[in-house]
Amino acid sequence: MNFNKIVTDEVCLKRIGLFGGTFDPIHFGHLRAALEVREAFALDETCLIPSAIPPHKIKSCVTKIDQRLAMIQLALGNSPLFTVSDIELKRLGPSYSIDTVDYFKSLYPDGSRLFLIMGVDAFLEIHTWKAYNELFQGISIVVMTRPAGIKEINADSVKTIGAYLKDRISTGYHYSDKNSAYIHTSLPDVHVFKVSPLDISSSMIRNLVKQGKSIRFFLPDKVVNYINNQGLYR
Ligand code: ATP
Repeated sequence: MNFNKIVTDEVCLKRIGLFGGTFDPIHFGHLRAALEVREAFALDETCLIPSAIPPHKIKSCVTKIDQRLAMIQLALGNSPLFTVSDIELKRLGPSYSIDTVDYFKSLYPDGSRLFLIMGVDAFLEIHTWKAYNELFQGISIVVMTRPAGIKEINADSVKTIGAYLKDRISTGYHYSDKNSAYIHTSLPDVHVFKVSPLDISSSMIRNLVKQGKSIRFFLPDKVVNYINNQGLYR
């Protein structure tokens, strides 16, 4: 099965990637994956969107949004590669992706193309999200592979994603080898995109801090220093 054959020759005004997550903390797994998607999909802009109160993590203890935002800003520095949005900070109540996608749709003129970027572990929980069916109607989705070790995802992501799509969303999807995507006659594509496997997760980093071990080289030095100075995750 072919991976990562992306068709980018269509005419559209702007190609925008929306990459949401808890980013508690941001790490090289996020950054490298987002960069590879940006290059492959010829994105003009990739926006990192930390979620204020992640609905699926509402009961667990999540670091304050302003600290997670600060860590993203430190990680990005002056890099022109990514932008960061505080839209979910401004909105009251839990963060729902459908509201964020609608907001970004209103920002960009018709003819722009939006891509919702997420890892396969997040994708396979999408049926628990508010109005998830609507998400599939209005935006292309890029599902990034993730090493099986951490998130226990079936190694064959293409098949897992296909089975999930047919089960939960529509039986009308079929895989196009040409586009490395599940395509549908009336819904936007769901791309399966293989990123370099970096077996890094935020929970692993938080656990290392708790155990008093070094987290260096899993995330940018400036973020490591911020975590130490703020006494996070102890
Ligand atoms: P946690 O361990 O706390 O669950 P996480 O490392 O999965 O956190 P999130 O902020 O929850 O990080 O992830 C945001 C998005 O980035 C998700 O869609 C997730 O699948 C994706 N992602 C996170 N780490 C990686 C990685 N190493 N490679 C590819 N995608 C990743």
